[in-house]
Amino acid sequence: MALFEYAPAPESRSVVDIKPSYGLFINGEFVDPTDGGALKSINPASEEVLAEVAEAGAGDVDRAVRAARAAYEKVWGPMPGRDRAKYLFRIARLIQERGRELAVLESLDNGKPIRESRDVDIPLVAAYFFYYAGWADKLPYAGFGSDPRPLGVAGQVIPWNFPLLMLAWKIAPALAAGNTVVLKPAETTPLTALLFAEICQQAELPAGVVNIVTGAGDTGRAVVTHPGVDKVAFTGSTEVGRGIAKAIAGTRKKLTLELGGKAANIVFDDAPIDQAVEGIVNGIFFNQGHVCCAGSRLLVQESVYDAVLESLKRRMARLRVGDPLDKNIDIGAINSAAQLERIRTLSEIGAQEGAERWSPPCELPDRGFWFAPTIFTGVSQAHRIAREEIFGPVLSVLTFRTPAEAVEKANNTPYGLSAGVWTDKGSRILWMADRLRAGVVWANTFNKFDPTSPFGGYKESGYGREGGRHGLEAYLDV
Ligand code: NAP
Ligand code: MG
Repeated sequence: MALFEYAPAPESRSVVDIKPSYGLFINGEFVDPTDGGALKSINPASEEVLAEVAEAGAGDVDRAVRAARAAYEKVWGPMPGRDRAKYLFRIARLIQERGRELAVLESLDNGKPIRESRDVDIPLVAAYFFYYAGWADKLPYAGFGSDPRPLGVAGQVIPWNFPLLMLAWKIAPALAAGNTVVLKPAETTPLTALLFAEICQQAELPAGVVNIVTGAGDTGRAVVTHPGVDKVAFTGSTEVGRGIAKAIAGTRKKLTLELGGKAANIVFDDAPIDQAVEGIVNGIFFNQGHVCCAGSRLLVQESVYDAVLESLKRRMARLRVGDPLDKNIDIGAINSAAQLERIRTLSEIGAQEGAERWSPPCELPDRGFWFAPTIFTGVSQAHRIAREEIFGPVLSVLTFRTPAEAVEKANNTPYGLSAGVWTDKGSRILWMADRLRAGVVWANTFNKFDPTSPFGGYKESGYGREGGRHGLEAYLDV
């Protein structure tokens, strides 16, 4: 099958020094939890335990919120924006300097290919810190009045799919605007957030400005419901997001939610097919499909269906699945046993509902959590695999005849985070973008991120925007 064999090209894991156990990062120091237990973070590619991390209980979260409050009132809130900027620029530079270490740790803890953590995640993390560092002394010119004020203490909860990038999306704008934060990383991917805590120490960020409380769902609940938190920012599933919105309804807390998606990637008959196929592959197999804005529903115009499918299958047969630290790997490990189970279940349902399943021949490692890149054809809009977020390397393929039908099918979802359009005609791109109910519409590309560009959803994909000038609004009293 293969054109030629690749020799292994492993990135060295010795560039990162993982401690056997980590405490909570509260008030500038690593401390033991007082009322919580411990969790183990594993490498999903080998199931090897990487480190033990503390599980913060309600008392620990309270300590973190108090530390954040004190830092907000005494140090960070009163500090001139130009001084806050210096710290943020320092953090951004340290992220670049320690980029290799961060990339290896991210791939070990999450399972994503080193090619992606090295070339996408970590450079974007640095870019978001640089970008918001630039805003810190220019808030009066951001369009929110001549003296916009911060909100206070932000409680932030993030998922496991882009651990450090989601941290950057949360922490960089919050600090630039003058808030302090208590952040809870996901249970399965806490390690880069803890390395980030070390970077905060290295940058001599004042104690209490950033606090990292590791733990599971209960820790997240304690963060968002703490009465000392002024602003809640959550990225994760729609189900948990809905629970958070209910839990804090009626309080004065401001809330932004970045939730799930089921994006349509729409290929018209005048699109350059090879380029579109690269975009389809990037849209659904990037990061094992653990992407909220993944192009998980492919809509192909009927007249080019056969050509697109043939080319897509040929391309998929070239994807390499395996050791995330190998520099020639395209698809790494599924993040957890639980997520693998969910992908398997929904895929079985897809087959039972009558869709046709196809994967290229592909050898999967024995240990760890793996799922071969998969497509379903003959999918109807009623199928669960066309409606529910699978959050894995599984693509549902549908067809359409007219642009109006493409719009109708694309919008026929409870979500509205992103969409992709592939066509040669600029006028059609604009016509589609006007009608697609999605926060981001990519044209002849997919999964492109930039700190200057706002990102967020319609409908059940959440509310509020992260990134760009809009991303500051969530952290200012406007
Ligand atoms: P999740 O279960 O909702 O978890 C997200 C975070 O919330 C985790 O840190 C989780 O802790 C925590 N959590 C769980 N229950 C909680 C509760 N009751 N109160 C407060 N926090 C709680 O989501 P996931 O399954 O890990 O992540 C995948 C989802 O995230 C997908 O639906 C995806 O679309 C969405 N996502 C959206 C975006 C976006 O920008 N829109 C970006 C990335 C991912 P544990 O880790 O311990 O469960
Ligand atoms: Mg979870």
